[in-house]
Parts: sequence; structure tokens; C-alpha cells
Amino acid sequence: MADLFSKTVEAPEARKERLKALLVTARATKKAQTHSANTENRLNTALSRVPASRRAKVEAKCLLMPESHRRTYLRAMTGKSVRAAITAQCCECMGWNRAEVARCCSPACSLYPYRPRGKEASDE
Ligand code: SF4
Repeated sequence: MADLFSKTVEAPEARKERLKALLVTARATKKAQTHSANTENRLNTALSRVPASRRAKVEAKCLLMPESHRRTYLRAMTGKSVRAAITAQCCECMGWNRAEVARCCSPACSLYPYRPRGKEASDE
């Protein structure tokens, strides 16, 4: 009977560890949900700044690109950031791979001197 009892009752230390792990998981989940909601709010705000005549097409294009590039693209589509427009265009050109933009091998492209190069910039 004592053996059965020891199998069903959790040791206080083990229980403490399990609860701690549950708490960490719950906090991480809540943080992820909050981050996701904040990101969505920011994207919706950016989308609302795009002129209404283009909004539907811009939103449709947004859905086709990786989430990490949407903010830059939407900033470009408000018409207020040339830098964002160049970055968005180059990233799209390179299949949404920003690292590849730095390694672009089309020096004849009109955006080549302006493309985002990050820390890898050492040519020219
Ligand atoms: S500079 Fe390179 S990455 Fe940017 S648009 Fe031109 S070809 Fe594409």
C-alpha cells in the first residue's frame, strides 16, 4: 500500500519543478500571442496608410510574401520611404532572401548601387 501511495503522490520538489515549467510555458505562450497580436495591429495600421485605391492589391500581395518582409513592403507602399521601396524590391527580386541581396550579381540593375548590403558591404 505504501508503494502505491508513493507512485500516485508527487514529491514536493518534483511538483515544484513541474509547476515552474508550466508557468514558463504559459508565459512564453502569452508572450507569443501578444507579439503576434501586436504584429498584426502594426501591419493593419501600415495597411490603412496605403491609399484606398491600391489597398486591395497591396493586401493581396502581402499575403504572398513572408511575414517578415510585410512591414517594409507596406512602409514602401505608403510612398514615404524610398529606402523601404528599394529594400522591398531587392528582397522580392532575390526570392525574399535578404542575405542574397547583398550578393546581387547584376551591377547593371538601376537599384544595384542602392540595394541594402548590410554588414557584408565591402565591394565598390
Ligand atoms: S539591385 Fe540586384 S537585388 Fe536589387 S533589384 Fe536589382 S538585381 Fe534585384
